[in-house]
Amino acid sequence: MTEMDRTEELRRNLAKVRTRIEAAAAQRTGPAPELIVVTKFFPAADVAALAALGVADVGENRDQEASQKAAELADTAAGESLRWHFIGQLQKNKAKSVVRYAHAVHSVDRSSLIGALGKAMVVEQERRSAANLPPRPELLCLIQVDLDERTEVPEAGEAAGPRGGAQPEQIEELARAIDSASGLRLGGLMAVAPLGTDPAPAFDRLMDYSAKLREIFPSASMVSAGMSQDLEAAIAAGATHLRVGSDVLGPRPALR
Ligand SMILES: *Cc1c(COP(=O)(O)O)cnc(C)c1O
Repeated sequence: MTEMDRTEELRRNLAKVRTRIEAAAAQRTGPAPELIVVTKFFPAADVAALAALGVADVGENRDQEASQKAAELADTAAGESLRWHFIGQLQKNKAKSVVRYAHAVHSVDRSSLIGALGKAMVVEQERRSAANLPPRPELLCLIQVDLDERTEVPEAGEAAGPRGGAQPEQIEELARAIDSASGLRLGGLMAVAPLGTDPAPAFDRLMDYSAKLREIFPSASMVSAGMSQDLEAAIAAGATHLRVGSDVLGPRPALR
């Protein structure tokens, strides 16, 4: 496919997704949800094409891939305008790299990661200052919530479910940790709908957790939920940010 054909394809897919979003948003009150296009697995050229088509926010789930694309686009018009959202499970040792390009991390799910991101922000601001660069804005942090209703709750420190995420009981403690860390700003909550069930009740639970969180932190109003398959359900529930990949970029290999 030529570059022009690919841009045309992306334009069409994007228009279809935007139409779906508008139709779903027309059924509810509140501001229009924001679209984050998930570009994982696709090349930097696609990210640049999306930026030229007016996409401002892109999502990635692996640091190595994301940092490479961000570096590739750094001195281009796309690089200037894009905001990178990190949406995948994140290891502490990647925090220093992620804060160099990420506007937001949607997958904060444990206090040790909050500590690592806070420290990484200090190091990053020092690096910028030493290089005579302006300081970066605070890193927007969303708490990823595990919406799987399992009978067993993991012990403290035990690995989260297969799709990641904190247990709902942990939200307040994590929110306080983000709020008190310098360099981090509490954005709200993020979740992936559990596999193989109706997403609507899960998204409703997420909205309940969000309402509770906003009682303590009124500005933490972001609710990042909804993907290609379930964006309508997420919008109906009240999602503020959608993360849509395959319906814009096309199918990706199931495993990698
Ligand atoms: C890949 C991914 C998405 C996008 O999923 P699609 O089904 O391709 O729209 C959204 N959120 C997360 C956390 C992802 O890893």
